[in-house]
Amino acid sequence: MKPLMSARGMLLAFLALVALAPWLLPEFQVTLLNYVGLYALVALGLVLLTGFGGLTSFGQAAFVGLGAYTTAVLTTVAPLPGWLAWAGGSPWLALLLGLLLTALVALCLGALTLRLSGHYLPLGTIAWGLSLYFLFGTSELLGRHTGITDIPAISLFGFELKQAWHSYYLIWVFLLVAVFTTRNLLDSREGRAIRALNGGRVMAEAMGVNTVRARTIIFVLAALQACASGWLYAHMLRFVNPSPFGLGMGIEYLFMAVIGGLYSVWGALLGAGVFTVLREWLQDLLPALLGQTGNFETIVFGLMMALLLQRASRGLWPWLQRLVPVKTPLRRVAPAEPLPRRALPERGSVVLSADKVTRRFGGLVANDEMSLQVRAGEILALIGPNGAGKSTMFNQLSGVDTPTSGEVRFLDRPVVGLDSRQIARMGMSRTFQHVKLLPRMSVLENIAIGAHLRGDRGVFAAAWRLDRAQEAQLLAEAARQAERVGLGAHLFDEAGSLALGQQRLLEIARALASDPCLLLLDEPAAGLRLREKQALAELLARLRTEGLAILLVEHDMDFVMGLADRVVVMEFGRKIAEGLPQEVQQDPAVLEAYLGGV
Ligand code: ADP
Ligand code: MG
Repeated sequence: MKPLMSARGMLLAFLALVALAPWLLPEFQVTLLNYVGLYALVALGLVLLTGFGGLTSFGQAAFVGLGAYTTAVLTTVAPLPGWLAWAGGSPWLALLLGLLLTALVALCLGALTLRLSGHYLPLGTIAWGLSLYFLFGTSELLGRHTGITDIPAISLFGFELKQAWHSYYLIWVFLLVAVFTTRNLLDSREGRAIRALNGGRVMAEAMGVNTVRARTIIFVLAALQACASGWLYAHMLRFVNPSPFGLGMGIEYLFMAVIGGLYSVWGALLGAGVFTVLREWLQDLLPALLGQTGNFETIVFGLMMALLLQRASRGLWPWLQRLVPVKTPLRRVAPAEPLPRRALPERGSVVLSADKVTRRFGGLVANDEMSLQVRAGEILALIGPNGAGKSTMFNQLSGVDTPTSGEVRFLDRPVVGLDSRQIARMGMSRTFQHVKLLPRMSVLENIAIGAHLRGDRGVFAAAWRLDRAQEAQLLAEAARQAERVGLGAHLFDEAGSLALGQQRLLEIARALASDPCLLLLDEPAAGLRLREKQALAELLARLRTEGLAILLVEHDMDFVMGLADRVVVMEFGRKIAEGLPQEVQQDPAVLEAYLGGV
């Protein structure tokens, strides 16, 4: 189908519909849309948390409850205890305090749960989701299971928001602000760090991203959105009790996000809409159809979920996008002031030295008292048969792993025990033997992750687009490095669509985008065609001339011997030879290792 409209046109049409809806629809449908908005706000947090961050939470309903109960207590209980008296009465103040409380609670729960991995994390969210729910139901102050009534309506400039269409505008303004700020955030330096959480944590850390911080940020943001939804809910209904904040609802929020699509902010809206409208419809239709009352819609929903996960695991949004294609605007990278460069160490000075580095895995000694030195303006090749321990050595040097014993000094500082992101910040950057990139992100954005450390604009700046000048610099730098490795024609392609050789080049560009003084390249030429290899060799030679130190693991002997200044040869975790390329090529121990004693 030919695209009818641009994305911007589509968006304006949607906003116009949202603005006109209360005039076009009967009141009960406006109320339904209020629920869609409230649910979408929570589901949006899950898109961020689960879709982009890879963290599954069943506990979001508890944060909704936190927002609802905070405002219910602060606006109805009179008199409040003396120390809290100042906070009573105003819903808006209660919103602020609710958000604050939620942030605090989320930080504590995050500290407890976010370090869990695999199945334990969702189980953790179930645990605290349940405990908050029971807190709502058992606390005297919160009215136990009866809840709290007589919550005042919100007033805005002296005008009381009492009717469904009043709440409608308030809810949808909240929702749309959340959608736009979330979208902005995802399209930024911090956003790339967040999107790397789902499947790219080792890589992101090696590029200097603090992934624990990024996980905490999205956890708190998702909780705050849920809290805002709870606040709106309490003042719309004017009454709260624990039932909508239980685990069942927590699961339903996750349903909505999955139905709509976890990988787009609009998926949250679509999911909440489809879920709410469909449930309403089934609730009316099924009992009439079956001639008896009951919660049949839940059964139908369960079956539909199972079917959807089978057929469209990425949700309805991508499907809708295919159905209604939009014109894509011409994409280009705007020119920008280049980022400042780091001062390189003096040519010939030792940049990295490893001294008797040993790494054991149980009984296996993968690195056995390995020593080597790399100087500025030099290419050192580390070679050896498969399984000799070269990649393991890279991991010890770059902080991805910690040696069992031995010392590593980088720029004259001991770095054993530092995180890979701290080492990255000092100026060491690396590529991985098994390519680690984010296949659904563009080539440009993947490379821009490398430049993460060279920016500093945070979440708030990104959400409100105050980071654009710096963002332009980061993207321009990424584009420049892409150009440099020969990926200039693929900037906006999905990284996963590149051939393996090009993916390796992408990793080199990403490493270069961090402006390193030492580059660790693990088999960069594997999978490259001859022409690409020649171009790569030229690039590495140029980087050497610029004064970079390069440590290279490579199997292609022509490539290594033509390029390296010195060569270190490993076998069974040990260094068996070191010297100029011509020397090691004639070394009997090396010939033995490579040719197996022929
Ligand atoms: P190379 O890169 O030289 O081909 P590696 O460094 O990948 O070799 O592997 C060296 C040895 O260490 C291999 O025997 C490998 O199986 C082992 N090894 C590497 N990483 C681990 C690990 N995390 N746990 C256990 N054994 C490992
Ligand atoms: Mg290896």
